[in-house]
Amino acid sequence: MFRERRGPNIIFRDWPKHGKEAERDESGEDVDEATRTVASFLEAYGRHAFDIEQVDSKAVRRQCEAWVRHFLSGDPAPGRRGSADPDWDGVQVFVGRHRRREQVYVHNSMRDLRNMIWDFIQGISQTVSEDKQSDGQVTERLSRLKQAVQRDSIEELKKEVVEAVQTIGEAIELRQKRQRSQMLELGQKLRQMRCELVEARQKMSSDPLTRLYNRSAFDEHLKRTADLCLFSGQPASLIMLDADHFKNVNDEFGHQAGDAVLRRLADCCVRAFPRKSDFVARYGGEEFAVIVSDAGVGVCGKLAQNLVRAVGEMQIEHEGNRIPLTVSIGVADLMPGDSAESWLRRADQALYRAKSEGRNRAVVESR
Ligand code: GH3
Ligand code: MG
Ligand code: MG
Repeated sequence: MFRERRGPNIIFRDWPKHGKEAERDESGEDVDEATRTVASFLEAYGRHAFDIEQVDSKAVRRQCEAWVRHFLSGDPAPGRRGSADPDWDGVQVFVGRHRRREQVYVHNSMRDLRNMIWDFIQGISQTVSEDKQSDGQVTERLSRLKQAVQRDSIEELKKEVVEAVQTIGEAIELRQKRQRSQMLELGQKLRQMRCELVEARQKMSSDPLTRLYNRSAFDEHLKRTADLCLFSGQPASLIMLDADHFKNVNDEFGHQAGDAVLRRLADCCVRAFPRKSDFVARYGGEEFAVIVSDAGVGVCGKLAQNLVRAVGEMQIEHEGNRIPLTVSIGVADLMPGDSAESWLRRADQALYRAKSEGRNRAVVESR
């Protein structure tokens, strides 16, 4: 990973030169400057990417970084193997495609917002115009009544009083009816908005690639479980999993294949820890975590071994290639005096041991 730096001039000073750069330098400075400008543009585009439906900002950032590496260090273009020649067509397709997705996302979001405001305005203006209509009728009745009072005819006055009372009564009844139905409608709208909010909250706490809980949901749940289980004395286990040599999967089969493998791995984790209370999350990159809040390492160690076996036996095919995959797992019990951080640290240490003892295994922390 490269460090974040500010302007284009500083940004790429540390980058190794592109393989073709010597030729380009001879043919003119402009070409080199153009390449650097494109790379600078890509770096900024990735740095300021935002989450849109189906595409996570981190994935876009990683893709942009891979393109920058391609143009500045001569790495193969993302999704292509072998050639280090600058892939101008490929980068145009990448930027164009993502920009279109962003456009659709922004357009749809604005449209939804506009529709909501429009519904609201229509509701209000309808109420106001209906009120105006009935207010008009009442005003007219009252002015006729005033005129009748000034005349001498008792008969006419009686008639106007009866009609005014009737009109005002009807107007009040109509308004009450309307208010009841408006309250009902408002209640329905509020319920719908609450559902949408819950849905949006779920989206915010889920990882777009795997649909598992994301890192921030994990952090929150880990802390809550540590607090609650230490308080109640209930056992709890933390399982940290890391895909073995995952860089090789990307290098050999491409990033898209890597993404497909991560999705399969996520499904496998959910199958290994299927209970509603098992909290399966993507910790980051090719790392996953499970928080089990009612079982200790005796049970969870075995479940972790099963998961290692299940991943090893998974048949992963991508575009005709069979992709081998193994994982390493560390398991740690929540212990008295633990904090979320110390619990995580011990699970991580167990994972580190699983890696250093040869990978493709689960290690339960020794107390
Ligand atoms: P180890 O067995 O020591 O864990 O080796 P490793 O190659 O798995 O570990 P390393 O940390 O060197 O590399 C992790 C790789 O995971 C590199 C990174 O590109 C890849 N990766 C992380 N997130 C994603 C993702 O969302 N999609 C894909 N395709 N690859 C990812
Ligand atoms: Mg890792
Ligand atoms: Mg790994």
